[in-house]
Amino acid sequence: MSTSQLTALRRYALKTDEELSKLPPSVLFTKTDKTVTVYDLYPKSNSFHFLLLPRITSLLPQNSVANLKSLLGWDKEKAQRVIETIATDAKIVENMIGDEMINRFGFKWPIFVIKLPASKYEPLLKEDLVCWKCDELFSTIPKLKEHLKKEWEQEASKAAKLKLKAKSTSAAATCKRKAESNEDTERAPKRMA
Ligand SMILES: [Zn+2]
Repeated sequence: MSTSQLTALRRYALKTDEELSKLPPSVLFTKTDKTVTVYDLYPKSNSFHFLLLPRITSLLPQNSVANLKSLLGWDKEKAQRVIETIATDAKIVENMIGDEMINRFGFKWPIFVIKLPASKYEPLLKEDLVCWKCDELFSTIPKLKEHLKKEWEQEASKAAKLKLKAKSTSAAATCKRKAESNEDTERAPKRMA
């Protein structure tokens, strides 16, 4: 992540309730007292990519969350609470995203939430990344994302076919209806672009 990207994210983390409420829904996904979740500023392959940031307040000074080292060097109890809050809010956001996926696609994709401080996930960038589905290794996040996009499309088309099967067994399916469902199958992967 570049410095300018981090600066942009810091701006969201610094926003007050009132300022956050003015953000368009294409930017702000959700917020709590302690965290803010925004859509990825530079999304590449799918519409379910979010960043959950700890909000900078008088209780959480900016220099304490400059990076993981500064957080851990801060008051231990407070730092612990920050980490716990991020984990709790990430769980809430994860459930919201899961519901959204089921509504839109009829299946749920495993969810990874990347959080600040950046140093927490930066070491990940130096190690090989593994596809959760087929165990293939990838040297960079863009390569993994590209691969996951294909996995997603396969999953979406499988879900659409299952839906089609359920339709044709539950009622007397006419050829016309089948043709319509096939169109759905073809359209499904494009919706996530
Ligand atoms: Zn895979």
